Amino acid sequence: MVNLVAAVFLVCCANGPLWRAVASVLGSTAGHWLWLVGVGVVLVLVFNSLLSLFSFPPVHKPLLIAVIGIAAIADYYMASYRIVINGQMITNLLETDFREASEQLSWALLRHVTVLGALPAGLLVLTQIRYRPWRRELLARSGVVGASLALLTVLLLANFKALLLFGREHSDLRMYVNPTYPVYSFFKTLRVNYRAHHKEKETLRIIASDATRSATNTRMALVYVIGETARAEQFSLNGYHRDTNPQLRKQNVISFTDVESCGTDTADSLPGMFSHLGKGRYSPGEAKKYENLLDVLQRTGVQVAWRDNNSGSKGIADRIKYEILSHERDPILCPSGECYDEILLQNLEQLLRANNGDVLVVLHQKGSHGPSYYKRSPKEFKLFLPECDREDVQNCDRQSIINAYDNTIVYTDHVLSRLIDLLKTQGYATAMLYVSDHGESLGENNIYLHGLPRAIAPRQQTHVPMIFWASPEFYEAKAIDPALLAASRSQPYSHEYLFHSLLGLFDVQTTVYQPKLDLFFPARKRTSSPSLR
Ligand SMILES: [Zn+2]
Repeated sequence: MVNLVAAVFLVCCANGPLWRAVASVLGSTAGHWLWLVGVGVVLVLVFNSLLSLFSFPPVHKPLLIAVIGIAAIADYYMASYRIVINGQMITNLLETDFREASEQLSWALLRHVTVLGALPAGLLVLTQIRYRPWRRELLARSGVVGASLALLTVLLLANFKALLLFGREHSDLRMYVNPTYPVYSFFKTLRVNYRAHHKEKETLRIIASDATRSATNTRMALVYVIGETARAEQFSLNGYHRDTNPQLRKQNVISFTDVESCGTDTADSLPGMFSHLGKGRYSPGEAKKYENLLDVLQRTGVQVAWRDNNSGSKGIADRIKYEILSHERDPILCPSGECYDEILLQNLEQLLRANNGDVLVVLHQKGSHGPSYYKRSPKEFKLFLPECDREDVQNCDRQSIINAYDNTIVYTDHVLSRLIDLLKTQGYATAMLYVSDHGESLGENNIYLHGLPRAIAPRQQTHVPMIFWASPEFYEAKAIDPALLAASRSQPYSHEYLFHSLLGLFDVQTTVYQPKLDLFFPARKRTSSPSLR
C-alpha cells in the first residue's frame, strides 16, 4: 500500500516536465484525456512493481526516501532548465568541482526539495508499516507485480498499434520519466566511465606514429584559447546588435561566423576539439581510447602547456605540462574564491620566454559558464544593466539574464584583446586561435543553459565563435595570405577542423593529416590548390 501511494505521488507530483511534454505531443488529439490517464496508469503500475521488487523491510523506508529525494531534485532541474537528466548531464555532474556544484544551489531548489522531498519523507518516517510474515509478504508482492504486469499487458494489447506508433514516434518522452530515467542514466554512465577508464589504462592507442616536423629556423608560439559556453550570435564581430567586442574590433582579427561544435556540453565537446576521429566516429568515450592532438605535437618537439581556469581538461592534458589557475589567491583577479579569466594571462609571458622552440599554450577559460553569469565579469566590464544576479536564472526576467551573459562576452573580448597585445610584443611569429566548446540557450523557447542531446539541441547551443589573430611574422612564416583567409570566414566549419588545422599550422607531416579539414590550407600561398577543397 505504501508503495502504491509512493508510486502515485511520484507520477502526480514529481513529473511535471513529463506531463508537459506528453501534453504538448498530444496537442488537441481526439481523446487526449484518455491518453493522459492511460500514461498515468501505466507509470503507476510500473513504479509500483519496481518499488515492490526492491523495497524489502530493512531497507524499505530508506529506499523510498532516497527515491523521493532524487525525484524531487531531478524534477527541480528538469522543470527549471527544461533539461533531461541523461548520461551527459550525469557526466557533467560527476566531473564538476565542488564550487561549480555549489553555485547550482539556490533557495528555489531548497524550497522545491522541502515541499516535494522532505515533507513526504517526513510523513513516511511517521508512518508505521506492517509487514506480513516473510513468506506471505513475498507472495503478496509477487501478486502485486504479477497483477501489474497482467494489467499492463491488457492495456497494451487493447491499443497495441496506437501505442506502438506513439512509442516509436515519441520515444524521447522516456527521458522525462522521473526518477527512473535519471537513475538509469546514472548507472549507465558509471558503467561506461568504468569501462573507458580501464580500457584507457590498458592500451592508449597511439595516433600519427609517423608524425615528423621539418626543422625551421623561425620560432613560433600559438595560444589556443578554449572558450566556455560562448555562443556565436552574441559576438558583435558576427553581427550582434550590441557592441560586445569593443576591443577585438580594433585588433586585426578574423572571426569565423559559421562554426559548429561537436557537442553541447564541456564533457562532450572538449575532447572533440583535440581528437582526430572526426564526424561520424567521434564520441567522448571513443576519443578517450586514443592519444590526442597535444600528444602528437609534443612528440614532434612542440613545447605544449595547458593552463586551466575551468574544471580540468577531461583527460586531454594528462600527459603534458598542466597548470591549475582557478584556485590562485590573487586579490584582484580572484576576489571571491574563484578567478576571472585574466588569471590565464598571468606569467604567460614568462612561460613563453622560458621556451625557445615552437610553443603551443592552451588556455582553458571559465568564459560564460552559467547559470551564475554575473560572477564571470568584473565590475568594469558590466556594460549591460540590470544584470540577473541570482543562481536560479529562470526566476530573473529574460533581459537581465541576457545582460549578464553579454557582459561575460565583453569580458572575454577584453581577455582575448589583452592576450593579442601581449603576443604582439614578442617580436617573433605569434598567433591566437579562440574557439568555444559549445553555446548556450538564453530563454529562446523557454530553454536555458546547454547540454540538450545534439540531435534536438537548438542552434544557439552548437553555433560557436572562432576567432583568429596572427602577427605579420606568423603570416609570413606560415605563408598564409591573410586576405584569402579572411575571405573564407563565412565558410561552414566545425570542431572537426581543429585537429588538422593545428597540425597544419605546426607543419606536422603525417598520413593522419587531411588538408581538406585544415581551415588554413586554402590560404597558404605555396600549397594553395583549389582542387584539394
Ligand atoms: Zn563547456
